[in-house]
Amino acid sequence: MAFDLERDLQEILLPPEVIAGRVAELGAQITADYAGRRPVLVCILRGAVMFAADLARRIQLPVAMDFMAISSYGSGARTSGVVRILKDLDVSVEGQDVLVVEDIVDSGLTLNYLMANLRSRRPASLQACVLLDKPDRRQVPVHVQYVGFQIPDRFVVGYGLDYAERYRNLPYVAVLKPEVYEGR
Ligand code: IMP
Repeated sequence: MAFDLERDLQEILLPPEVIAGRVAELGAQITADYAGRRPVLVCILRGAVMFAADLARRIQLPVAMDFMAISSYGSGARTSGVVRILKDLDVSVEGQDVLVVEDIVDSGLTLNYLMANLRSRRPASLQACVLLDKPDRRQVPVHVQYVGFQIPDRFVVGYGLDYAERYRNLPYVAVLKPEVYEGR
């Protein structure tokens, strides 16, 4: 096994080359949509790090990158819906074209909160780009302009996504065996 972590996995959902292909498509789409502009990519730490790093290199525009760290209260496989900002942006986004880059939209609570928070800072435009979308679990509606992949309601890890801070460094997205997070 290439990774010791692999024994915790049920199946690989998105292999590296599939992710890379879709990231290239998203980058091309964003390049076309934002032609002549200088969008600010707001990468949400820590889950979107891999995605944002790869996506940024597929956007052929003079982007800026900034970072926000958030935590939804509680730990484990399910979000609580209450979001706390642990690290805010370094620069003002007032009047800027802001593109939020997030790992996954699940209930929608986290992204909904983030978008409302950023909208209050009066950017020129505000859109979101997420790698993964679990539409079955949505609790609040949230508009996501750019979606990498729609996936079923399974708990996934890898390519930035974690369970209890592990598995982020897997180069693919995989379904975690339920026994890894159940009963904790
Ligand atoms: P939401 O607020 O329910 O949309 O959840 C968004 C956040 O929950 C994401 O930013 C992730 O941190 C976490 N999350 C939701 N589903 C998964 C998953 O399948 N694997 C890893 N993290 C997840």
